[in-house]
Amino acid sequence: MWRRFSFRRRRADALACIEFVEVVTNYLEGAMPAQEAARLEAHIGQCHGCTAYLEQMRETARLVGRLMVEDVPAGGRDRLLQAFRTWKASQA
Ligand SMILES: [Zn+2]
Repeated sequence: MWRRFSFRRRRADALACIEFVEVVTNYLEGAMPAQEAARLEAHIGQCHGCTAYLEQMRETARLVGRLMVEDVPAGGRDRLLQAFRTWKASQA
């Protein structure tokens, strides 16, 4: 019972990281329902990978004065998602 629960939790956390990457621009622009933003913040609070990514995106937004998906270096998102998978695997 407990083992099954923790397995589901880990899956949920990994999905939250991928979801975070998908919606981070909306989050930074405030174009996100408060309830969803609060859920993301709860995840960021316990995820070093997403905290680092959020800081990187904020820095990018500061530098260019706006935040567009095209501003993220090509392949950066794929590399990040791969880094998440590697990190999550090492935590398992
Ligand atoms: Zn995360």
